[in-house]
Amino acid sequence: MSEQDFQSGEREKELEEQASIIKLSMHTLKDHYGLNPGKYRKPVRSIGFQLGLELARILPTEAIRDVDSVVKQLSSYWMKYGIGEMFWVDRGEEMLLGIQFCSDCIGRGAGYTTCPFKEGILEAVLESKLENKYRVDEVECCGSPAPNCVFKIEPTLD
Ligand SMILES: [Zn+2]
Repeated sequence: MSEQDFQSGEREKELEEQASIIKLSMHTLKDHYGLNPGKYRKPVRSIGFQLGLELARILPTEAIRDVDSVVKQLSSYWMKYGIGEMFWVDRGEEMLLGIQFCSDCIGRGAGYTTCPFKEGILEAVLESKLENKYRVDEVECCGSPAPNCVFKIEPTLD
């Protein structure tokens, strides 16, 4: 993705609108289910997935080669619109993506992972950009409590 692309009018507007939709959904969902997504886990994940498909459609595709390049792109988008900060967690062979300062962070103490929305959105963007299936599972959550949310990314065979 070139800087110019990111700046350019129409796309810029679409990306900004999509960021508002994503943040509004994150906030609304957390307002609704609080610290425990419980029985909403699956539908919340689906909402994230749908919005992720929409986001992938408008994010530029040049410079996309692998998981790392998708994450780089998503990470600058996330940062630019104040959704949160992404970073790789270096812990052996696994692909672990950390997210901190999430826009929907509601503090600590839930005792379990609370971010199925982000699982869905990550999965959708990876799958659409790379034409491969991925499974994204949150393995640590700032609500659990851990310092950051951490998502494990695995390619799947089907
Ligand atoms: Zn989390």
